[in-house]
Amino acid sequence: MTTFQAAAHLCTVSGINCNQPPANSVESKIIKLPGTDCAIKSQVSLASYTSYRVGGPAQWCVAPRNIETLQASVEYGQEQELPITVLGAGSNLLVSDRGIPGLVIVTKHLRHSHFDPSSGRLTVAAGESIPALAWAAAELGWSGLEWAVGIPGTVGGAVVMNAGAHNACIADMFVSAEVLLPNGTLQTLSLEELGYTYRTSLLQGSNSIVTQATLQLTPGGDPAEILAVTKQHKQHRLSTQPYDKPSCGSVFRNPSPYKAGWLIEQSGLKGYKIGGAQVAERHANFILNAGGARACDIFNLISHIQHHVQEHWSILLEPEVKMIGEFQAAC
Ligand SMILES: Cc1cc2nc3c(=O)[nH]c(=O)nc-3n(C[C@H](O)[C@H](O)[C@H](O)COP(=O)(O)OP(=O)(O)OC[C@H]3O[C@@H](n4cnc5c(N)ncnc54)[C@H](O)[C@@H]3O)c2cc1C
Repeated sequence: MTTFQAAAHLCTVSGINCNQPPANSVESKIIKLPGTDCAIKSQVSLASYTSYRVGGPAQWCVAPRNIETLQASVEYGQEQELPITVLGAGSNLLVSDRGIPGLVIVTKHLRHSHFDPSSGRLTVAAGESIPALAWAAAELGWSGLEWAVGIPGTVGGAVVMNAGAHNACIADMFVSAEVLLPNGTLQTLSLEELGYTYRTSLLQGSNSIVTQATLQLTPGGDPAEILAVTKQHKQHRLSTQPYDKPSCGSVFRNPSPYKAGWLIEQSGLKGYKIGGAQVAERHANFILNAGGARACDIFNLISHIQHHVQEHWSILLEPEVKMIGEFQAAC
C-alpha cells in the first residue's frame, strides 16, 4: 500500500487561513474548539473560499484537520444551536453577499490518500484535490481519473455532486464513502446508498459530512500514456472553457436532450452582463466574475437567463451551482 500524504493533526487559526480582515466592520472573535487545538473564528470572509471570489462572511468558521476535530466542530455547532454548512473547495457555490449564519466547516484540510496496488482502490480523505489526485494516479500508471483533471473541487464535493466530465463521473468508480452523521457517528455508505444520478446524490441536503471515499481505479498501466490522456483532457477544457476568470464551471444542469449552454447561446445571451457578472463568450453555461461582481449580480444574471430561456424554449433551467445564504430579499 502506498501512502501519499500523512494527515496533519492540528488545526490552528493560521491553518484555517482565517486571518483575512472580516468582510464588514463587525468585530472578529476567535475561540478554541473545546477539547482540541482547533480555533473557530467569527466573521470570516468567504470570498476567498469560493471559486467565484464573492460572498459575505461566515458567522463562524472552522477548518478541521482530522476526524476528531471535525466531530468536535459538529458537536460544538449543535450545542450552540448553529446551522452547519460544509464547504469543500467552494468551486460549485454561490455564497450570498450577506454571508452565512451559523458555523461553516471547511473540509479542505482533511487530507490523506492511499493507493492500494493489490485491489486497485484509492482511499482518499474528503479534502484532497480532485485534479491533484488525477495527476498522482496518472504518474503511478493508474487509469480511471483522467477525466477529472479539470474539476477544481475536493473529493467530498465530487462525491456529493457526482462530479463528472468527458462522459465519466464519480459514480462510475465509486466503491464507498465514510460519512459523519449529525449524531456524531461515522458510517460507511455503498454505491446503492448514494442513489447517484446526473450530478446528484442522496447526500445533497442530507446533513451528513463526507470524510473519505474509496474509488476503484485500474493500476498497472503505462504512466506516459495515462499522463498523455490526462493532459489532453486538461488541454481540451482550457481551449473550450473560460478558466481565466472566476466562475463555478457550468451554472445550469443540462436539461436532456439539450445542453444548457446551447439554449443560453440560442437565446442571445452570450456576453450579457449584470454588474460584474457576465455570461462567458467562450461557453454560455459559464457565468464569470468579470471583475468586482457581487453575489447578487450573479444571482440576478441566473434569474435573467432562466427567464429568457423559459420564454424562448419553455424550459426552466435548473441551477447546478449551490446557492447558500439569503438571495431573494437581498438582491
Ligand atoms: C472552472 C470550473 C470547472 C468545473 N467543471 C466541472 C465539471 O466538468 N464537472 C463537474 O461535475 N463540476 C465541475 N465544476 C464544479 C465543481 O468543481 C464540482 O461540482 C465539484 O465537485 C465541487 O467540489 P467542491 O469541493 O468545490 O465542493 P463545494 O463547491 O465546496 O460544495 C458543493 C456542495 O457539496 C457539499 N460538500 C462539499 N464537501 C462536502 C463534504 N465533505 N461533505 C458533505 N458535503 C460536502 C457542499 O455543502 C455543497 O452543497 C467546475 C467548477 C469550476 C470552477
